[in-house]
Amino acid sequence: MSEASLQRACPVCDSRRAAPHWRKAELRIVRCTDCGMIYANPVPTRMATGEFYDAAGTDYYLAPAKLESDYAAVRFERELWLFRKFCARGAVLDVGCSSGAFLYQLQQRWPGQYETLGTDASGPPLDYAESRGVAVVRGNFLAQPLGGRTFHAVTFWAVLEHLAEPKRFLEQAHAALKSGGLCFVLVPNLHSLAARLLGARYRYVYEQHLNYFCPQSLTRLAESGFEIVTIRCSHFNPVVIWQDWRGGGRAVSNVERGELLKRTTAYKQKAWLKPVKWVYGLAEKFLAAFGLADNLVLVLRKTEPPRRKDSI
Ligand SMILES: [Zn+2]
Repeated sequence: MSEASLQRACPVCDSRRAAPHWRKAELRIVRCTDCGMIYANPVPTRMATGEFYDAAGTDYYLAPAKLESDYAAVRFERELWLFRKFCARGAVLDVGCSSGAFLYQLQQRWPGQYETLGTDASGPPLDYAESRGVAVVRGNFLAQPLGGRTFHAVTFWAVLEHLAEPKRFLEQAHAALKSGGLCFVLVPNLHSLAARLLGARYRYVYEQHLNYFCPQSLTRLAESGFEIVTIRCSHFNPVVIWQDWRGGGRAVSNVERGELLKRTTAYKQKAWLKPVKWVYGLAEKFLAAFGLADNLVLVLRKTEPPRRKDSI
């Protein structure tokens, strides 16, 4: 491995004691021996800095299949449902907004109820977001003053698993929230049926994912300065389990990921598949009830200032 890499402490408890957990090609996944968090270490520097997403990631986020899927009405339906349940109006910041599809849906479905702003480490998807009428701010979220603006809600949809320092992002979100503001977090669930069955063969065990959260590690990461409003799990994609089981852990290209997303989204929109969707919905509810669905979703409310190690 000749490229520059970064040694990490545990992203949840800051310990440097860890044991090997999984290996997959160049990827090294370890388990914190103090808190049990599973994370990649070391990681390529380009992954930790966001440089990867600004360069190589662009062909994925702006690929026609990915854009079509992201902008399909069903793409964020679970996230939108949950978001509306807790936040009916106000200023919303979407961190890692990519091409802006979540904020676009908020604006289109509930016009005039939200003031939206998106941000992302990758520039080209932000150009696309702007072309769809989504306001954006560019650059590293940790360095953004945001013009002194504060928000009623900050969202991280499938973002924290990509970050070398997820705690600092939550601290920055805390600073950007109004008193009592809400933070929404969605990450892949390490305890999902898919992850349990497939282990390191799962396609979401790959170099872009630096953190592998379970309910305990995610809530521990977030507990400073926030109270937990709800934690639940959602989403289920049996096609991924089937493909990865058969594939035995082979690398899945970004093009393939985009194509599968597009196909899955298309299935969800076909009326004649209603009976299948009904069974699928039942399976998702069952898995969610036992904490086995694909993603964890956490809703947090800002309480006191975050405790920093040096302030104790
Ligand atoms: Zn730890």
